[in-house]
Amino acid sequence: MNSMQYYSPNTLDEYHKIYSELSGKDIIVFSGGTDLMIGRYDLPQDAVIIDISRIDELKGIEIKEDKIFIGSCTTLNEILYSHKIQNDIPILIKAIKTMASEQVRNRATIGGNIGNASPAGDTITPLVVLEVRVEIFSPESNEVRTIPIKSLFCGPCATTLKKGEIITKIIIPLSKDKDVFYYFRKIGQRNAMTITKASLSAIAKYSDGKIEWIKLASGSVSPVVKRISKTEEFLKGKVLTPAVIDEAREMIAKEISPITDIRSTKAFRLLITKNLLGDCLYYLIRQQNI
Ligand SMILES: Cc1cc2nc3c(=O)[nH]c(=O)nc-3n(C[C@H](O)[C@H](O)[C@H](O)COP(=O)(O)OP(=O)(O)OC[C@H]3O[C@@H](n4cnc5c(N)ncnc54)[C@H](O)[C@@H]3O)c2cc1C
Repeated sequence: MNSMQYYSPNTLDEYHKIYSELSGKDIIVFSGGTDLMIGRYDLPQDAVIIDISRIDELKGIEIKEDKIFIGSCTTLNEILYSHKIQNDIPILIKAIKTMASEQVRNRATIGGNIGNASPAGDTITPLVVLEVRVEIFSPESNEVRTIPIKSLFCGPCATTLKKGEIITKIIIPLSKDKDVFYYFRKIGQRNAMTITKASLSAIAKYSDGKIEWIKLASGSVSPVVKRISKTEEFLKGKVLTPAVIDEAREMIAKEISPITDIRSTKAFRLLITKNLLGDCLYYLIRQQNI
């Protein structure tokens, strides 16, 4: 009978060595394990688990010039309690605050939330509107490369990562624009410990009564999280009148492709995505008038 093997490297070099010795085997990258351990995955008995959570190079938050680098094994709570992220990336804080529980957030990592690639993954919509890049380590070539986060997802819970490749860092550009407005809201079955039925992330610049630019991404309403670009384009340069907001609500409904599943129905997801956009735009007006 085959039994599951488990490795826990301390460095990326060790990860590379272990990977090279295991060539051909089914490898499962394990970080906090909060997705993997709840049994949604039918782990093959001869799979090899490589636990990357002890690799120091994959942990921590660093600022270099105009970017913030978050190690992929940084836990959600480490991000939540980081003053730098609280000051500079409030949209990520808003999202993480809605995620799981204190206990789960102490284990769950940002790399795991991205690597899981769920359309309902709550850090993903903020990271997509922030236009982050992800750094990837390939144990085949022993090299790293960076790609825009939007190129990472290729279907529900599917990524473009090749076998053994791991996300090492999330690279967030720091905005030069001041007075930027951030919005994140998710709708679930209840307020705490809830999985997203639909969510919306937005970053916008609003000045002289007009939207200068806006970036939007919806969660749980398409096979992969992506920007809502036609609605973004429509809103650019617009004064936010009730008629404009109504038109934008209709547009976003045409840009998403929700499905009915165990968590919600297509009709409800369409309705709440329209309402989230309305809520976001009216909130933007109220912030401007304060
Ligand atoms: C009770 C509970 C509540 C939850 N609530 C929420 C919630 O509100 N919102 C939400 O979005 N999620 C939620 N989750 C899901 C989960 O906690 C998150 O997705 C978490 O961020 C996953 O991180 P992890 O380190 O535990 O990932 P793991 O379980 O270790 O891995 C998840 C997947 O990502 C891959 N992976 C892990 N690290 C990397 C890496 N560095 N590079 C490439 N691939 C990698 C793994 O191979 C696996 O496929 C919840 C889970 C539980 C158990």
